[in-house]
Formats: sequence, C-alpha cells, structure tokens
Amino acid sequence: MTATLLDGRALAARIEGSLRSEVDTFVTMFHRRPRLVVVLVGDLAASGSYVKSKASAADRVGIDSDVVRVPATATTDELVSLVASIARDEHGPADGILVQLPLPERVDTVAVLDAVPPDRDVDGFHPENAGLLSQGRPRFVPCTAAGVQRMLIDAGIETAGRHAVIVGRSDIVGKPLALLLASRGPGGDATVTICHSRSADLAGVTRQADILVAAVGRPRLVTADMVKPGSAVIDVGINRIVGPDGTAKLVGDVDFDAVREVAGWISPVPGGVGPLTVAMLLANTLLAAELRSSRR
Ligand code: NAD
Repeated sequence: MTATLLDGRALAARIEGSLRSEVDTFVTMFHRRPRLVVVLVGDLAASGSYVKSKASAADRVGIDSDVVRVPATATTDELVSLVASIARDEHGPADGILVQLPLPERVDTVAVLDAVPPDRDVDGFHPENAGLLSQGRPRFVPCTAAGVQRMLIDAGIETAGRHAVIVGRSDIVGKPLALLLASRGPGGDATVTICHSRSADLAGVTRQADILVAAVGRPRLVTADMVKPGSAVIDVGINRIVGPDGTAKLVGDVDFDAVREVAGWISPVPGGVGPLTVAMLLANTLLAAELRSSRR
C-alpha cells in the first residue's frame, strides 16, 4: 500500500483563494486593509525565510504587512517596549502582531510574547487565548495546530472516536493540537495521547494511533515499524540536514519513504503542514482586523 499524499500547498492555495474574497469584503466594509506587523530579531536565515513567506502570502490575499527588524543584541526590556509601541499603532495600524521565534537565548521569550495584546495575538500564544482554547471557546488558535486539524478535515480523515497520538508537548504545537483534536465538533472528538521526551515505549504507543502527529524536530524519529497500517501520519517537524551530496535540504520527523508504504495518508516535508501554518496566520489576521473594526 502507498499512502495518499496530503498536499498542504494545494490546500493552502484553496484557503488563500477564499481568504482573498473575505479580505475584499472587509475592505468594502471598512475602507482599509487588514495589517500584520512582524517583529524579526537577529539574522537567523530560517527565521528570515519564514517571515518572507508570511509577508508574500499576506500580499497574495490583500493583507498589508510590515517587518520591524531588530538586532540580535536587543534586550528583553527593549523588545517588550517595542511590542508595546507596535500595539499603540506607532508602526502603523497593527491588527495582528507576531514575534518571530526563536528569540536569542538570553531574551525572556514568555515576557515578550505576553506583551502582545491578546486581541492582536495572531499566533495564539497569549495565556488568554490558550485559556479560551482549553475551555472550548477558541479565538486565535495557534496556526500550526489549526493547520493540522484543517488538513485532517479537508482530507475527510475521521477523528471522532479515533485514537490520535501526538509526539511533542510544546505550547506552540503539541498541546494546542491535543486540545483541538479532543474538542467537540468537526476535526475533534478524538481520544488523544500526548507523547514526549520522557515517554516510555514510544513505538508501543504510536502503533496504536489512527492519527499520528510528529512535532519534535528530529529527523527520522518516526520509522515504519512505529506506524499502524492504514493510519494518517502528519509530519510537523522541520529539520535542516546536509545530504550525502553536501547540499542542505529540509526533512520532517518521519522516515517518509518507508512510512508511506505503511500509512494510509502522509503529509510531506516540505509542502505539508508548513503552507497551512501560513494560511492559518492569514485567517487569524483577518479575524483580528474584523474583531477590531467591529468594536469601533
Ligand atoms: P519543541 O522543541 O518546543 O518541542 C519538541 C517536543 O518534542 C518536546 O515536547 C519534547 O518533549 C518532544 N521530544 C523531544 N525528543 C523526543 C523524543 N525522543 N521522543 C518523543 N518526544 C520527544 O518544538 P516545537 O516548537 O513544538 O516544534 C517541533 C517541530 O515542529 C520542530 O521541528 C519545528 O521546526 C517544527 N515546526 C513546524 C511548523 C510548521 O509550520 N510546519 C511550525 C512550528 C514548528
């Protein structure tokens, strides 16, 4: 059996298509475009390229965006003040504010993220948004988790009553995804297990998964013997490795070639969850603009 490929690029393009017309409606109603402001600290190549792809996706759907660049030497206090000034619209109207991670190690990331007002927190990392999600009344859902759920719904992969195993317990991906898949409604109602670096017998647990999500950041962590035949395998991991020919390439956490012979569905890296993360960010930015404009 060869698994059906879950094409994140194609789905993201369809989502962008409908967002474009929703943005047009917003512009007609409020005579302005939604606007996203991104804070980029330092010159990490990966962060720079993520920010670039977010900005060009925003442009494609008619959302304005701006990148505020800060040197890697910025302190926690400076970054907190910068975010506060963006929230006062001192860098132009900011419906959505996003701080590109990772921040330099000496910076208190939580303090900087907490400075993003919850009603502009398009990454969904603020404790207020995390709390709303955990209570089953989501506002801004973390983009990658939302993208994985959307991928499952779009492919018609049943989640209700199924066993979803998520490997990775981060606040950014694993935990919010667990909450989404366990919540009531479409793309939810699953029985969810979270595995992590201290889990015993990881393969014994993953073999029970009807839906297996890998969100760790370790190439080939998930091998074919860890996968239940016919299951859906979603690969969130992004790892930069150097191949035998010396060229750098991106791989996920799943041993793709072997696992695709066992799984029923599989998402590739690149071209799987990544583009959906960006599409969900655009959706959150439009939502932030709508919430803000309807309050006025
Ligand atoms: P993280 O480092 O915060 O969390 C990694 C998790 O993996 C931890 O919870 C840890 O307990 C678990 N873990 C580590 N080693 C393990 C092991 N041997 N067995 C089981 N669990 C183990 O990472 P994150 O921010 O959640 O990101 C995870 C991966 O997803 C990274 O590769 C990241 O680049 C990628 N990512 C991709 C997207 C996307 O859009 N596709 C978005 C965010 C993150």
